Amino acid sequence: MKDSFGREISYLRISVTQRCNLNCVYCGKTDCAKKETELSPETYFSFAKAFAKCGIKKIRITGGEPLVRNDICEIIKLIRSIPEIETLSLTTNGVYLKQYARKLKNAGLDSVNISLDSTDGSTYRHLTGEDVLKKVLEGIDEAEKVGLSPIKINAVLMKGVNDDGAEQLINLAKKRKIDVRFIELMPFSDDGENPSLLVTGGEILKQFPFLQPVESEEGTAKYYSADGFEGRVGLINPVTHKFCDKCNRVRLLSDGKVKPCLGYDTAYDIMSYIDDEEKLISEIKKIIMKKPAGHSFETVSGSHGLNRTGG
Ligand code: SAM
Repeated sequence: MKDSFGREISYLRISVTQRCNLNCVYCGKTDCAKKETELSPETYFSFAKAFAKCGIKKIRITGGEPLVRNDICEIIKLIRSIPEIETLSLTTNGVYLKQYARKLKNAGLDSVNISLDSTDGSTYRHLTGEDVLKKVLEGIDEAEKVGLSPIKINAVLMKGVNDDGAEQLINLAKKRKIDVRFIELMPFSDDGENPSLLVTGGEILKQFPFLQPVESEEGTAKYYSADGFEGRVGLINPVTHKFCDKCNRVRLLSDGKVKPCLGYDTAYDIMSYIDDEEKLISEIKKIIMKKPAGHSFETVSGSHGLNRTGG
């Protein structure tokens, strides 16, 4: 379905929990990571079916950290059974991926995005609060082994914090068919609000002039490659190059509220219609029509950190 600005809305991100096992410095977390904000697999399934009837073709499961839910494979299995959903992916910090990759693949997951901001153990611990880099690297290996594809690594660089590790991250795309994507730091936390920490996509290109643009129709990232690279390097520049005019997504929060735009706090509660698919569909359509033309991040309050909305 098209929104009021003619954009085809085909992509739903479902946050299935606010809980997270890491404490990333830039995430803007709040203390609302309570289990009661989570819904059952069947409830997310009912929402997903209604969204599919409104034109959603791609679903990404996110959080919080989706793999802290021990019923995550049930959620994947149910959503996979919706015929309209062509692509089903999940975003994870990768800490539990080694143990879950095969089960997720068997449940019907297509692909996985793994957040990894440094390949240096002590920097990783500083950024996330946990000494679990090895587990994440093993998780990436396992995802590759079981055939989750594509595998994308998402990294947020911050000046003077982890930007000296950009080359090591890029090297992950050299020998393996993995896309390494740099996301510009968005202002959702104390760190995010400090503009001097921002490393822009333009600065990354200047630092690594061997990266050459490659044709790609995919979403919000611009892709680059280099001689001898198996994978690609992606730049996602929400701060310096907003992509609102191409935005095709809406978000379902873990408590069942629908958020039409990441850049605004506005979220609509349609939980009361969960048992009435027709009404649910008509409410979703109304919300899609209310999706704003665009945003600046100044409109987001700190209370809506990405642990709530799922990035
Ligand atoms: N726990 C999962 C994970 O770590 O991938 C999913 C949730 S996490 C909020 C989703 C993505 O949002 C991560 O890739 C993270 O790096 C990104 N993210 C969080 N805060 C951000 C910020 N202030 N600016 C840019 N990206 C951010």
